[in-house]
Amino acid sequence: PADVMSLGRGSWRLLHTLAANYPDAPTEEEKQNVTQFIELFSRVYPCPPCAQDFREWLGSNPPDVRSGPMLSQFFCRAHNEVNRKLNKKEFDCKLVDERWKLGWKD
Ligand code: FAD
Repeated sequence: PADVMSLGRGSWRLLHTLAANYPDAPTEEEKQNVTQFIELFSRVYPCPPCAQDFREWLGSNPPDVRSGPMLSQFFCRAHNEVNRKLNKKEFDCKLVDERWKLGWKD
């Protein structure tokens, strides 16, 4: 992995933005697609130790694909898990829409 930090920033942007645009009432196919995407993402993420820990976490925290808001909260929990591991500040999950739907600069 060339740059685990910028890879991470770009990847979280993709995942949180995906959730922010996921339907409120997804079809079965949409639910299956995003479930598979997350599973495959966790297998191909090009930082092997990151991917390994993420897969382990997913094992006890299956993606909540019932709706956009639930998927956004799911990724917020996933991201906070990594924040804790890296001794970063936890993110307030009430602010996910403000951050990733409306957008703010940081
Ligand atoms: P990032 O953590 O990349 O966050 C970017 C922005 O997202 C923040 O500025 C904030 O506005 C917002 N944000 C922060 N927390 C949340 C949240 N909970 N919900 C919603 N928005 C939030 N790095 C490692 O060194 N070791 C690892 O094992 C590791 N595992 C990773 C696993 C995955 C699946 C991913 C995607 C990344 C992983 N990373 C790992 C990278 C790490 O999470 C960070 O992306 C990287 O350290 C850069 O951090 P950053 O401080 O720039 O902000």
